[in-house]
Amino acid sequence: MKKPLVIITGASSGIGKATAIAFSKEGYPLLLIARRKELLEQLQLPEAICAQVDVTDFESLNKAIKAAEAQYGPADLLINNAGIMPLDKIYDQPLTDQYNLVDINIKGVLNGIHAVVNGMKERRHGTIINVSSVAGRYTFANHSVYCGTKYAVHAISEEIRKELGPFNVRVSVLAPAIVDTNLLTSVKNADILASYQATKKAIDNGLKAEDLAAMMLYLYQLPQRIAIKELVTSATNDLC
Ligand code: NDP
Repeated sequence: MKKPLVIITGASSGIGKATAIAFSKEGYPLLLIARRKELLEQLQLPEAICAQVDVTDFESLNKAIKAAEAQYGPADLLINNAGIMPLDKIYDQPLTDQYNLVDINIKGVLNGIHAVVNGMKERRHGTIINVSSVAGRYTFANHSVYCGTKYAVHAISEEIRKELGPFNVRVSVLAPAIVDTNLLTSVKNADILASYQATKKAIDNGLKAEDLAAMMLYLYQLPQRIAIKELVTSATNDLC
């Protein structure tokens, strides 16, 4: 049977990229979203639409989703993965970085949900996986606004899970600790970056993006009657 459409935001790098490859291997048609379309195209995945979309732009995201659904049928899985992590002390962090965190990490997630939620509700079928973080459960030094965005993702997910469950739509949070990706490229403060890199090195760089991709597949491929509310994960030697 033909597999349904899977949407992955932030598919040009790290966790999103590994997840795109994993779902493609399983035969799912994909809508891959990121600002750097060339990186999406370099993946050369079959049955994959590559859309240059900034998740903060609802109209553009919605247009890409509607176009992909016209080609492959309704989206059955949305993975809200796009995110940034510019760490800093609140007194040093430019307001533009703080606003970008809120816009991408929170509003981007809301935009994705808004684009698919009514279709899933009407079909009484669908899954939304929101990629949060252990920073959505505990606070960490220099992570204040980032933590705020991930706490928001946790809180929103927990409540919409209850709203959508009666319609057979699952909502899961995937909350990893350190994963070896390009996420640190948004950290501009040299001292904070060096300290984070030392922590990461001490745990052999943490989880791999492919580990998270396997967890996404696991969450999604469970029978629809089973919802994993939250999957919190770290490398075994990561004591965060
Ligand atoms: P990467 O930096 O490797 O990937 C981030 C992805 O998000 C890129 O594909 C990037 O694409 C995309 N992205 C960023 N901003 C936007 C935007 N405005 N519109 C569309 N796409 C955007 O980092 P990770 O893979 O690590 O990050 C993925 C998620 O995992 C994030 O939500 C992050 O918070 C979370 N996470 C990561 C952890 C880690 O240690 N790595 C730990 C816990 C959670 P492009 O720049 O091309 O737009």
